[in-house]
Amino acid sequence: MTILSTSAAHDLTVHELQTALANKEVSAVELAEHFLERSRAHANLGAFVDLQPEVTLAQARAADARIAACVARALDGVPLAHKDIFVTRDFATTAGSRMLKGYQSPFDATVVAKLADAGMVTLGKLNCDEFAMGSSNENSAIAAIGHDGVVPVRNPWNLDRIPGGSSGGSAAAVAARLAPAATGTDTGGSIRQPASFCGITGIKPTYGRASRYGMVAFASSLDQAGPMARTAQDCALLLSAMCGPDPDRDSTSLDVPAEDFTLGLNNSIEGLRIGIPKEFFGEGLSADVRERVDAGLKQYEALGAKLVPITLPRTELSIPVYYIIAPAEASSNLSRFDGVKFGHRADTYTDLADMYKKTRSEGFGDEVKRRIMIGTYVLSHGYYDAYYLQAQKIRRMIADDFQNAFKDCDLIAGPVAPTVAWKLGEKSDAPMANYLADIFTLPGSLAGLPGISIPVGFGADKMPVGMQLLGNYCQEARLLNAAHRFQQATDYHLAKPAGF
Ligand code: GLN
Repeated sequence: MTILSTSAAHDLTVHELQTALANKEVSAVELAEHFLERSRAHANLGAFVDLQPEVTLAQARAADARIAACVARALDGVPLAHKDIFVTRDFATTAGSRMLKGYQSPFDATVVAKLADAGMVTLGKLNCDEFAMGSSNENSAIAAIGHDGVVPVRNPWNLDRIPGGSSGGSAAAVAARLAPAATGTDTGGSIRQPASFCGITGIKPTYGRASRYGMVAFASSLDQAGPMARTAQDCALLLSAMCGPDPDRDSTSLDVPAEDFTLGLNNSIEGLRIGIPKEFFGEGLSADVRERVDAGLKQYEALGAKLVPITLPRTELSIPVYYIIAPAEASSNLSRFDGVKFGHRADTYTDLADMYKKTRSEGFGDEVKRRIMIGTYVLSHGYYDAYYLQAQKIRRMIADDFQNAFKDCDLIAGPVAPTVAWKLGEKSDAPMANYLADIFTLPGSLAGLPGISIPVGFGADKMPVGMQLLGNYCQEARLLNAAHRFQQATDYHLAKPAGF
């Protein structure tokens, strides 16, 4: 067919692929084969941890049959890959952990099932930090395809840099055009930060908009699924398919109907009030990132938006609050990995307690163990009030600060991370340094607000910089509209890493 011979299909967006498939310029099977070939050819990136070509091709054939029969679905035949934190029936699910190495789920996560129902073809599973704990993807214990041992995921813009995390495999794969789109999850920034570090677009919806059923749990009151793609328009297409209530399977799922987020993409943003929190532009922000975010804000002014100074006074507190609440929930969620129900079990042990101890010592990596210990400590009798309860109170105040700010603005803008992607290994032995770099994504997560990261050019060492937009609850359409208008006026999102 024409598209693969005349131009590179992997350079097309989800939206363009949708059109090409509908016009029969390319088939779903051709696309699947093309992208699978690319994943293998670029295995050095370490992005994919599982491929099942037979499964992928069967899905593609089914999509082609529907297209031929004129019963095509919204995203029929468009390939995507899933962060390996979503359980999948036809691919292994590891959550980046030795604990789940080789685990085969008996069912698909709701988000996976919804995207499949929309006709999307699954290319494979993408590397991530163990149980989504991390900011650099260096915490995975799973070997990527084409490698015998564990290798770090590399940033396509500079192979010596981290891709960000915890959805690092997703961001690297999309930036390198190994998949037109991917799923990610964001507990404290894991969609926005890797999107920013790899120069792509990623949106974390309002807590509860996408079902958490079948997402391996990290911190249940924060975990949220979202799409990562090259454009806001593509994110809108995927997010429309991913969201919707799931009351029977996720009790925290919001009772808000699914929405077509593409409808308002072209609305004018004339008069849009964008709040600029002064706490997001303080000392900790590196000059190169600041320069790009400022340029992005100027662009918004040129598009008719008004910049409004606001304050989010508890921004700094979001770090201790998050690093109490998230580990507390993690310590409880991870208690299920006990060597009995599923996953790894130690080979030899003397009794039940010894079996638990050995299984968990062998199965979990250092960062996960660190968080289980912190979480157990802050929940323990005698410390609960001082840490956990106190953190919950401040969490509420952080959410209130946002509501106060939204009295004066429609959206909030700022950097995603204080710096560009750092070098592999640079912070791998410094957990605190990693935690501090989460400062701009944590407040929105703690409040449960939707947030998007969009590329705004390149900073130090020619690494991508992302700008974050935060909206009030269920304002995803407004965020996507603002991001789309920005991308129509700029070409940062079109930049492509050399060699891909
Ligand atoms: N970097 C944060 C952490 O390590 C956020 C991770 C996430 O959003 N999953 O917890």
